[in-house]
Amino acid sequence: TDFASLGLAKPLLSALAAEGYTKPTPIQQQAIPLVLEGKDVLGIAQTGTGKTAAFALPILQRLAENRRPAPRRGCRALILSPTRELATQIGDSFKTYGANMGLSVQVVFGGVKYGPQVRALAGGVDVLVAAPGRLIDHINEKVANLSETEIFVLDEADQMLDMGFIVPIRRIVKHLPHKRQNLFFSATMPSEIEKLAGELLHNPSKVSV
Ligand code: AMP
Repeated sequence: TDFASLGLAKPLLSALAAEGYTKPTPIQQQAIPLVLEGKDVLGIAQTGTGKTAAFALPILQRLAENRRPAPRRGCRALILSPTRELATQIGDSFKTYGANMGLSVQVVFGGVKYGPQVRALAGGVDVLVAAPGRLIDHINEKVANLSETEIFVLDEADQMLDMGFIVPIRRIVKHLPHKRQNLFFSATMPSEIEKLAGELLHNPSKVSV
């Protein structure tokens, strides 16, 4: 299997070639076609399996296939990530894979000034990668409006649970539109995470590696 046979288009294939990726990993082989079809996906995968590209590549393709302006103060795809480090890595992956696609990517997390994040969000972004606490601050301040988000990703769900982020996540999800695509990734499936997945996902396809 190669990336082209999974349904990925030229701009992504050239970015992957530039990165030296020759073959999709198992989670990528399973998840990419499902995400491209618009399905909700429940992925059981650890960091290091290539799961970031498993969601970033098909999200970029879907955003590019159906181009529209990013909603003001909002985003087209929202990725929640537990830590500043992981959020930054995910943002960097979107920037690398989407280098030829003209889509905007912004990362927001706590512990840094609000101003640059507020200005970046004002005009809207295609892809927003956020840590939950700071995103809630932006929602409360009406800096972020999630009402037109098309794709929602919860990454490292079990780590979110360990860090006490389940309540903030539920609060964020209330701001998303009802009709959306959901992707949910966790390394393990403790019962609270299974419950959250049941609440968030609609007829999910399950993939695990
Ligand atoms: P992740 O599991 O998303 O943290 O990815 C782990 C590492 O694998 C990252 O450094 C990626 O750049 C790299 N990677 C992801 N997919 C591939 C691939 N298909 N071929 C080679 N490297 C990859």
